[in-house]
Amino acid sequence: MQDNTKSNTAVQGQKPACNCNAAPAPHFPEQVTGMYILARALKNIGIDTMYGLVGIPVTEMAYIAQGQGIRFVGFRHEQQAGMAAATHGYVTGKPGVLLTVSSLGFLNGLTATANATVNCYPMIQISGSSVREPIDLDQGTYEGLDQLNIAKPMVKAAYRVNKAEDIPTAVVRAYRAAISGRPGGVYLDVTTPCLAQIVDHDVAEALLFQPVDPQPAMIPSPDSVERALQMLSQARKPAILIGKGAAQARVEDLVKEFVEKTGIPFYPMSMAKGVLPDKHPLSALSVRSTIMEDADVVMLIGARLNWLLSRGHGKWNREGKFIQLEIDPKEIDCNRPIAAPVVGDLRSSLEAMIAKLPGYKMNMDSQWVPGIQAESQAKNAKFEERLAPKTVPMTHWSALGAAKKVIEANPDVILVNEGANTLDDTRDAIDMSLPRHRIDCATWAIMGMGMGSAVGAAVATGKSVVAIEGDSAFGFSGMDFSTICRFNLPVTVCVFNNGGIYNGIGVPLDKTSDPAPTTLDIHARYDKLGDAFGAQTYYVTTPDDFEKALTEAIASKKPCLIDVQLAADAGKESGHIGYLNPTPLIDITV
Ligand code: ADP
Ligand code: MG
Repeated sequence: MQDNTKSNTAVQGQKPACNCNAAPAPHFPEQVTGMYILARALKNIGIDTMYGLVGIPVTEMAYIAQGQGIRFVGFRHEQQAGMAAATHGYVTGKPGVLLTVSSLGFLNGLTATANATVNCYPMIQISGSSVREPIDLDQGTYEGLDQLNIAKPMVKAAYRVNKAEDIPTAVVRAYRAAISGRPGGVYLDVTTPCLAQIVDHDVAEALLFQPVDPQPAMIPSPDSVERALQMLSQARKPAILIGKGAAQARVEDLVKEFVEKTGIPFYPMSMAKGVLPDKHPLSALSVRSTIMEDADVVMLIGARLNWLLSRGHGKWNREGKFIQLEIDPKEIDCNRPIAAPVVGDLRSSLEAMIAKLPGYKMNMDSQWVPGIQAESQAKNAKFEERLAPKTVPMTHWSALGAAKKVIEANPDVILVNEGANTLDDTRDAIDMSLPRHRIDCATWAIMGMGMGSAVGAAVATGKSVVAIEGDSAFGFSGMDFSTICRFNLPVTVCVFNNGGIYNGIGVPLDKTSDPAPTTLDIHARYDKLGDAFGAQTYYVTTPDDFEKALTEAIASKKPCLIDVQLAADAGKESGHIGYLNPTPLIDITV
């Protein structure tokens, strides 16, 4: 292990203790490298954290960043470092930064940058890349890969920087691209010669600049605001649908004002839970079907009519009309005609609508809200019954009955959640009361975001995090539990072990003695993995023990791992989205 106190002296005049760079050493403090300029340019625009995994050609870069006061959070896999950077971007509104090595490290990280782009999370992946000439001539070089062109179709913007003098411009452009308009993932390719290039210190410092207004307000047209309010005021059964765009835009104050002034019920998408409390009297969280089937005007606030909302078809009222508050004009009409688009940033759009609200009188059916409230109450009571039995061996429901009590008693804990049944059931069971406190598989419904997102959430906010993970989901990122331990983060990981993908009852076909494709390890002791890295660990088999362990783990503010032993037959194939399988499901139990 190298002593990074040595690297901290780099800016004061010595070369960091790193043997990775064969280029001639600069003469500090008169001369600096491209890596130094990169660190300074990031710091200059307010980047305080970098997630990544070092190796040729970026090891020294990470040391120099640390020397500049940028926290470097080193991972075991670039994909998880990228998930952390993306989550950092989501919870702070400032781009999270990922640092990767060339070729495979770049590709591993790109998975997360692409996922960030799909989810509109602001992040910047900075990757070292090999010398250009042999790549362009396909001559075969160390980790040679045309990274820029591979990244381009996967990200919001991609740039390559070949000269150290261009680094500050490249960093500012990447920053603007990540956070302006619809946020997303940006790729910045920095070649090895550029990283190693020597520049006079004074020249380098003079290159730095502050971007003016990097996230400009996008004001909606006054006509669009009037059109939307006109439509909403005439509605008999209006509803508001809140998406994670609202959480990310940090407009919970305005959403609350708008909902409470109009008295319109709202339904939150998964990661929008907590923008307004799930227990708010106007929450229609439990009556999604009623909203879809009966609402005559639905106002989308930072939500897309994508597959998660049946693309506006299916159960949706065919006569219903949509108002959409959205920053990206291309999103409008993408699945269903939008009767009243309000294109602008959510803060500007909601402010404009609230300002004009006194000019409109709502015309809601007097039975609409009481009907939703009565139905919600009945559904919630029924749901409580599902969580009440302390079934042993545990099902997802009996385990979540325990988790619900503890997490709702600790509302400031950030909940990270992935899996199939573990995702669907946790989302349904655990009410959120604060914005940006639920982070999950999101728009792509991917697996493998857990440990990275937990680290990003804890590092970016300083808050405690609980990750509720299916055993299969945990497998994608489990090794990065060690990152939680190395950085001593207040993160508790709960592995819901039902021994398989969906569940552990897959039956091997007669033709093979191999395990079934869905079968994992029902008897695995995931808690022992935590022991290997010095975490506080628990193995629980009953809801009462789980409740006790989770309470203690959160209070400890230490890295904790709880193996939550479920029954192998708990959970169904594909959770709530089995209908997406290409053919009717084979009953794998027979
Ligand atoms: P959900 O899955 O919760 O429905 P989506 O990610 O599908 O959320 O939709 C979020 C939408 O919010 C995206 O279309 C995105 O362009 C939009 N958005 C993000 N930030 C802003 C903002 N500041 N102002 C307006 N719209 C935004
Ligand atoms: Mg499982």
